Amino acid sequence: MKKRLVYVALMAAAWLLGIMASWTAFGRQIDSFAYDFVFRLHQPKPWPAQSMILALDQATLKSLGGVRGMRQALAMGLEKVAAAHPKAVAVDVILAEPADEAGDAALEAAFRKTPNLVLPCDLLPDEKGWDDPLPRFRKLAVAVGQVHAGLDSLDAISRELPLELAAGKDRRWALALEAFRASDGSQILESPDDLDVGGTIIPARLTSAGRLLRIRYRPLDSPISRISVKQLMDKPGLAAQFTGKVVFAGLTDQTAVRDRWMTPYSNGSIMPGVEIHASAFETIAEKMFLVSAPEWSVLLFAMALTAGAGLTFAYLSGWAANVAAASLVIAAHLVPYAAFTERIVFPYLPGTLAVWLAIVAAASWRHFVVRGQLGKSESERLRYQHAMHFVTHEMRTPLTAIQGSSELIGRYAMTDEKRKQMAALIVTESKRLGSMIETFLSVERLSAGEIQLKEESFTAAEVMQTCLSRALPLAERKQIAIDSAELPNERIRGDRELIEYAFFNILTNAVKYSPAGTRIELSGRRVKDRVSVSVRDQGIGMNQREMRRVFEKFYRTTRAQQSGEAGSGIGLSIVEQIVEQHGGSILVESEPGKGSCFTLLLPVER
Ligand code: ADP
Repeated sequence: MKKRLVYVALMAAAWLLGIMASWTAFGRQIDSFAYDFVFRLHQPKPWPAQSMILALDQATLKSLGGVRGMRQALAMGLEKVAAAHPKAVAVDVILAEPADEAGDAALEAAFRKTPNLVLPCDLLPDEKGWDDPLPRFRKLAVAVGQVHAGLDSLDAISRELPLELAAGKDRRWALALEAFRASDGSQILESPDDLDVGGTIIPARLTSAGRLLRIRYRPLDSPISRISVKQLMDKPGLAAQFTGKVVFAGLTDQTAVRDRWMTPYSNGSIMPGVEIHASAFETIAEKMFLVSAPEWSVLLFAMALTAGAGLTFAYLSGWAANVAAASLVIAAHLVPYAAFTERIVFPYLPGTLAVWLAIVAAASWRHFVVRGQLGKSESERLRYQHAMHFVTHEMRTPLTAIQGSSELIGRYAMTDEKRKQMAALIVTESKRLGSMIETFLSVERLSAGEIQLKEESFTAAEVMQTCLSRALPLAERKQIAIDSAELPNERIRGDRELIEYAFFNILTNAVKYSPAGTRIELSGRRVKDRVSVSVRDQGIGMNQREMRRVFEKFYRTTRAQQSGEAGSGIGLSIVEQIVEQHGGSILVESEPGKGSCFTLLLPVER
């Protein structure tokens, strides 16, 4: 029972450790790594993009005077795009500071023609406010959206984007979300669990980190189309591609942009910020949402796996256990993948770690317990062997005497007196042999429950008195005094012979295991509906461990063996069985070198 509890506790610990480890930074990093892996493994089927990128690439900037000519370039591009009637245009170029007047004026003019214009804002460095577009631009836009990166704090990979972000009390929606709303012409309705934009429900729970949207990047081989301003200038016909699209305009020149982010696909390569915003937009527009599995399901899954591992090693063995354990491990690895294909992000680490820990713990537990049991049965076997040696040795003595005497009688003529002496010896020795065999057999029969108990009524005092008179000669020989002050007159019902055997056994043990000159005290009293009879000696005693074992068959303490008095180690095991079959119990108190006290508790006759 206790072992079972420890085992369950061990499994619970494996579970808890798995869960807690997954909460550490290291654990989160591994989970993100697994997320990226599955992300690459299970890329979505390409879908017709609803967005396009108007790129300010290296060639554009080069032909239009570098970064300083950027607003001019943007203005030229947007003029062409506006003429093609896009659905909306989101600009990912921060316009908080005035630049050269010619450029700004051109940009203002282009913005004026642009339908559903969304402009960007960024957090001020101290996060106290927003770096908003200049008023001359701001007033031409239908909305301003923030372009915060939302990079993973551990590995700077862009997996999630904050849909809303507050600087102080001033809260802004993400550029991608504003672009979606602008293209849709609807409102953003908020609830704690999601956002509703014109019927599109975005599952983004409000947490302490804001509302996060997992970006479902398009498959690697089918990115969002990009047309650069330079290309547009060179081939104005290309502008038709922007018709009906939501356009994201921004820098893609890898040398000029600081906002280039890594994505789960990256493998070191990077994506310009504008494309990441466009990807977030696509995620919303296509409703390709990746939602987190609820925390309770993660805990429950890990718990089921640990329980499975625990049961596996408790009830199965050999290859069956190995197969079951392997399937659990496979399940732990497969479930996050299967969940991902259903657009549910199921963390990888809690389950896998918990199941591994549980398997290791359960397997080693079994290893040690099984080995412990083997060791135990081995020592039992050894003890049995000892006992067998002992028994044969004990039997050999009377047998040799009987053999020798009968041979002498048969071979030599001898006086009558001598013959009688020999015959008497043979009789006593064979009686001894007989009783010895009887004892060994009765142990087996008693433990098998084959002995029929007689039903007699007698007092505890009678039994104690009888045993006392039989033990006195032994005690006297060892100069041990026996005190028997008051003996209880309560009646006991049962097999008198067996009860006598039991009491005599603990009494002779007291004599055997006490040195000369000590005292033994017999006492008895009634305790509720029981009578308690004790034998207290001042002998060699026992320690805790020995006390627990003295009722085992053939067990003898080393102390007793050294005293040279130890017998077969069977007596007490019979005593215990006799007492138990009478509905009683037996107690031992003892201290090495101080003495022992054996107490029999037997039910009083009603
Ligand atoms: P044995 O024939 O060896 O006495 P028992 O079953 O009667 O067999 O006792 C088992 C062991 O318990 C003894 O060998 C001895 O080590 C220990 N023992 C029993 N009674 C006492 C006692 N009164 N004092 C110390 N040790 C005892």
